[in-house]
Amino acid sequence: MSSARVYAITSDSGSPANQGDDMSYNREHRLAYMKEYANRPEVKARRKAWLKKYYKRPQFEAMWKEYIQRPEVKAHRIEWEKEYRHKPGVIELSKKRVNKYYKKTRVIALNHYGHKCACCGETGYEFLTFDHVNNDGKKHREQIKVSSFPLWLIRNNFPLEPKIQILCWNCQEAKAHYGHCPHEKELKKL
Ligand SMILES: [Zn+2]
Ligand SMILES: [Zn+2]
Repeated sequence: MSSARVYAITSDSGSPANQGDDMSYNREHRLAYMKEYANRPEVKARRKAWLKKYYKRPQFEAMWKEYIQRPEVKAHRIEWEKEYRHKPGVIELSKKRVNKYYKKTRVIALNHYGHKCACCGETGYEFLTFDHVNNDGKKHREQIKVSSFPLWLIRNNFPLEPKIQILCWNCQEAKAHYGHCPHEKELKKL
């Protein structure tokens, strides 16, 4: 058995003395080795990339579209989703995923504008907000009607109109309520 011999050479785990003729031993350890191999990060990444490419093939996409549109498949999915939603932990998990996704989009958008308060230089992620430079934010948000502003920015390729800048909560609040931030005065004094 050549594969068993390959295993014996490549494995670095402790090997008992009866190794060789004992087929069940070899089978078990070969399976363990395959499992370990499949779980290696580089192997996982390679498999994921391959699958992504595989499922992106046009003929596969068309097949999939046709399949999920079949009435019995649709009905089955709706039933399954109803049941799935009521399983313990599912709502928490989906909230966690949404939060993670929101944070990711926020980081991308913040990075685009320098990830820094344009007034005081604050860089803390939690402090930063997107500010409409010309104070047309309320109107604009009503116009675009989206739940995630950073995502809207990304999807629209960071439009130049309306003009957006990063401000921290403090500076934005001051600008919104008093028309200017006290930092500006301090800067003039210097
Ligand atoms: Zn600031
Ligand atoms: Zn300020």
